[in-house]
Amino acid sequence: MMDAPLQIARILDHGSTVHGTAEVVTWTGAEPRRMSYAEVGRQAARLAHALREELGVTGDERVATFMWNNAEHLVAYFAVPSMGAVLHTLNLRLFPDQVSYIANHAEDRVVIVDSTLIPLLAKAIGAMTTVRHVVVVGGGDPAPLLAATGDRVAVHRWEELLAGRPDRYDWPEVDERDAAALCYTSGTTGNPKGVAYSHRSIYLHSLQICMPEGFGLGPTDRELAIVPMFHAMSWGLPYAAFLSGASLIMPDRFLQAEPIAAMIAAERPTLAGAVPTIWTDLLSYLDAHDVDTSSLTEVIVGGSACPPALMHAFSERHGIEVVHAWGMTEMSPLGSVSRPPAGATGEEAWRYRYTQGRVPAGVQARIVGPLGEPLPADGTSVGELEVRGPWVAARYVGDDAPDAEKFRDGWLRTGDVGTLSPDGFITLTDRAKDVIKSGGEWISSVELENALMAHPDVVEACVVGVPDERWGERPLATVVLREGAEVGAEQLRDFLAGSVARWQLPERWAVIDAVPKTSVGKFDKKVVRSRYAEGDLTVRELAAP
Ligand code: ADP
Repeated sequence: MMDAPLQIARILDHGSTVHGTAEVVTWTGAEPRRMSYAEVGRQAARLAHALREELGVTGDERVATFMWNNAEHLVAYFAVPSMGAVLHTLNLRLFPDQVSYIANHAEDRVVIVDSTLIPLLAKAIGAMTTVRHVVVVGGGDPAPLLAATGDRVAVHRWEELLAGRPDRYDWPEVDERDAAALCYTSGTTGNPKGVAYSHRSIYLHSLQICMPEGFGLGPTDRELAIVPMFHAMSWGLPYAAFLSGASLIMPDRFLQAEPIAAMIAAERPTLAGAVPTIWTDLLSYLDAHDVDTSSLTEVIVGGSACPPALMHAFSERHGIEVVHAWGMTEMSPLGSVSRPPAGATGEEAWRYRYTQGRVPAGVQARIVGPLGEPLPADGTSVGELEVRGPWVAARYVGDDAPDAEKFRDGWLRTGDVGTLSPDGFITLTDRAKDVIKSGGEWISSVELENALMAHPDVVEACVVGVPDERWGERPLATVVLREGAEVGAEQLRDFLAGSVARWQLPERWAVIDAVPKTSVGKFDKKVVRSRYAEGDLTVRELAAP
């Protein structure tokens, strides 16, 4: 067989010619902007010429983006790796000192920024020591960037930089194992760590995203890509869209339920992907407003455990099927997608849908015990999940050797605890760091949260372990109630007693306004624990029932 490298430039060429009439739609709050994939191809060539000839980007230098999901971000996604450089998607929701830490760690040369984000970038760029150029997309005033950097950084305008440049680029042949893109973990449980995706890993991962057992993308689909392009490469959707010919609908900065509902009604997506919190907000909105969501048949929910109540609500009230998926930055990010096996119907099918899903051929999974000993994949043995495969990171950027805390014998230690069934379905009970160790027993915080969120008056529930003199640790339940709801802690505990063992029922309860979230919209349990430790929560302690 021919030894043709699997490279991003091939995905770009394919999407922008064979699927040249597919489009990327960018929401603006007013009339949406539309760009065909053919035009994305031309702009990618112009951007690559500008980066190479004007800004002097060579070799595998890093070009960062500080952008929402929009057409120009998509252009950068293709231009930078195709020319052989490395795309680095900066997470704009991190603290400024984390953003500059990451940019310095990656040694970024260029930052492309949406003009609406200039004020935010200005807070971080002063401490970015390797950045020499900023490219501003849109018409905002770049003065804050100049003020923060003096003459160390040259500021360019996207439009002017690309104007008049050739709309073809002779993409170089790259080694498929070279880095194409960098993404840092969001640091939910520690400092952000860098993962370098190769051309090969992105190519293979994108194929899997398109597979029917993945997200099943095809040329008649319109994918609403809500998951940020700065978080785990928007789950690989941009590249998968160009491979499959699916059009993309990009929300830019309009991530609230109301504009998302408007996008669904106007742009008629067939598929969408986002973390559970986005869907929880959208559900409340759809329940209260008349929105035409008839085009949307499936939404992929991942990033944290999807409460079964959310799946049922979307299916039964809105005819939208929630498909649960699991993954991590270190896995490009696709790990598993939960589609019931052939023959499963009714309750049995639902039980499959609640799990984190089935691993594809590209992901090998195993469960290990406390000493790293492999446990049987029998659906009942509980341990840490380890994975390996062609789109799983082997080590972090800048590390000479795999970090022993995260890698073992060629496997990635996910830090997730759960079971693996003989037919490859993963059921996670918790993150290792969030499991509540009560006496000698483990309590799954996620199980308690899911059970609580099935209560009609509970919008969100976040359960963490807190120190307890007698048991070591006990669960603290923090709940956000529906507006006007008056349900008390005793009633919620009685409700829980219907589905979880008595010894697991929380004694400590707090009603809160909102669950604190991380930069990518996950429950921030670190913050909940520290609020409790600092006495910032009004906690009711119930006597034993
Ligand atoms: P960070 O680790 O910084 O939060 P990631 O997005 O890479 O960033 O997080 C990956 C982790 O998110 C997984 O290890 C797992 O704990 C959690 N996660 C992702 N999807 C799911 C899911 N469907 N169910 C439960 N946990 C999930």
